[in-house]
Amino acid sequence: MTSRPRTDLDLIPRRARVHAVRRLSGTIVRTTLRDVAGADPAAPSSLAALRAPGPDDHVKVFLPDPETGVLHAPTLAPDGGVQRPTGVVSISRELTVRATRTVDGVAEVDLDWVLHGDAGPASAWAGRAAVGDEIVLVGPGTSRGLPEGIGRLTIAVDETGLPAAARWLAAVGPDVRVTAVVEIGDDVDEAFVEDELDGADLEILYRTDGPGQLADAVRSLGAPEPDEHVVGYGEAGDLVPVRRHLRSCGVGPDRSTVVGHWRRGTVNLAPDAPLDPTDPD
Ligand SMILES: Cc1cc2nc3c(=O)[nH]c(=O)nc-3n(C[C@H](O)[C@H](O)[C@H](O)COP(=O)(O)OP(=O)(O)OC[C@H]3O[C@@H](n4cnc5c(N)ncnc54)[C@H](O)[C@@H]3O)c2cc1C
Repeated sequence: MTSRPRTDLDLIPRRARVHAVRRLSGTIVRTTLRDVAGADPAAPSSLAALRAPGPDDHVKVFLPDPETGVLHAPTLAPDGGVQRPTGVVSISRELTVRATRTVDGVAEVDLDWVLHGDAGPASAWAGRAAVGDEIVLVGPGTSRGLPEGIGRLTIAVDETGLPAAARWLAAVGPDVRVTAVVEIGDDVDEAFVEDELDGADLEILYRTDGPGQLADAVRSLGAPEPDEHVVGYGEAGDLVPVRRHLRSCGVGPDRSTVVGHWRRGTVNLAPDAPLDPTDPD
């Protein structure tokens, strides 16, 4: 099995308008986004040009300042990077691209948001999202594809990792055996998780049953097979023992993808932040 191929994409800011909002489960909201009115669908800044072929490709979402309602959007810097406006608060958070599609010639992008109260601007925005609201998407700047020769896939996620988990399942196809352990809060419907991961051997864990369950569940699966890739997305601290177990089995980053999506007590955990600051990758 090869390691995952990486492709550079672009960091063009794309202004998007909420076209539809669906409450998928108690604390999960799906927004379907389209270009803002008057946008040129042939322009690089159209959602039609957004590429997210990899299962865990993610965008930086720029949100309105909750205090003022003003969205301070970035621009594309001459070197191809992201230039934030100066002198203002420019708020962004990372979200996985759940789906891209074209409907009647119009590009759409789905993002699934976990609601965890109003303390976080992303959660607060998503909890009130309505048709017509505008945000700005930047990226995915890079895309990571599937390892060639993958024969088995193990998934360990919380709610924030469900979009990537569902995309992995679809991407590997029916010939790859998939085992998924998913830790959720009490407000997430089991039926929704089962639908998203239909076809996987699925174990659902409830966060309220105590800490450490995700790692225990992964450990109980035993050592990964040589053609197995393991993915983990969720609270960084919960994933530290998952990665430790994988390392003890001789499984490194070439055969696993373990990414902290958030960290208890930390605002806007960076996507490239070390899972464990005391033990960097
Ligand atoms: C590569 C990547 C992909 C991601 N994909 C998704 C996705 O598809 N959907 C999604 O919902 N999230 C996703 N996340 C996680 C999301 O970016 C973070 O949860 C983010 O912190 C939410 O921003 P916020 O403004 O709501 O909270 P913040 O302002 O960042 O944090 C405020 C407080 O809330 C806590 N907090 C943050 N997230 C959660 C949570 N989920 N549950 C409980 N407490 C939390 C923080 O620890 C902090 O104390 C992804 C993260 C990364 C790095």
